[in-house]
Amino acid sequence: MTHEVRFQPEFRARLLDFEFATLEREQHSVFALSPALALVYFNPAYCGFAASNHGEAVLTKFPVGASLLDAVSGELRPFYEQRLATVRATHTAWHHDYECSSPDTFRAFRQSVYPLANGLGFVLINSLKVEAPMQTRGLEAHAPLDERYLQQTGLFTQCSNCRRTRRNDGSEQWDWVPRYVSERPGNTSHSICLPCRDYYWR
Ligand SMILES: [Zn+2]
Repeated sequence: MTHEVRFQPEFRARLLDFEFATLEREQHSVFALSPALALVYFNPAYCGFAASNHGEAVLTKFPVGASLLDAVSGELRPFYEQRLATVRATHTAWHHDYECSSPDTFRAFRQSVYPLANGLGFVLINSLKVEAPMQTRGLEAHAPLDERYLQQTGLFTQCSNCRRTRRNDGSEQWDWVPRYVSERPGNTSHSICLPCRDYYWR
């Protein structure tokens, strides 16, 4: 990714609370939002993590100028909107956790959301909290059986946090299906499973 498309030039002028060089040097993934919640900055570590985790498609799909709310699962939009409004109104940083695992590696992150002075947006720093082989999580790896997971809508439903896939029997059973993570079917929709909703998003 070239230097020019990692950030909007006006972002630097809004950045009264941080040194731009600090964000650039930060080893954790950093991105920033405009007051209207558009993505206005990605630091080099963010782009490096995306590139090493097959996330370049994410950067292509949600580049500088795209809305954060389009990049998060629909069910999480009200949550983010509400929390970011509180961060802005109280001018108080907000810290919360989320998962972003690959088929072989479990990862949990702490996301710190900092309001910029004068309501000029937000800086979000994503620090790695836990990284461990997925097998240590004790999750049974299920085979990609379309007859078990393809919903009547013609879509697979994957939890955007833990990346488990929901069964199509109407139950709340979500299975770890590594193949659907490594080679995500094009007809996949994202949702949030109940444990993730309870633990991470309330
Ligand atoms: Zn989940």
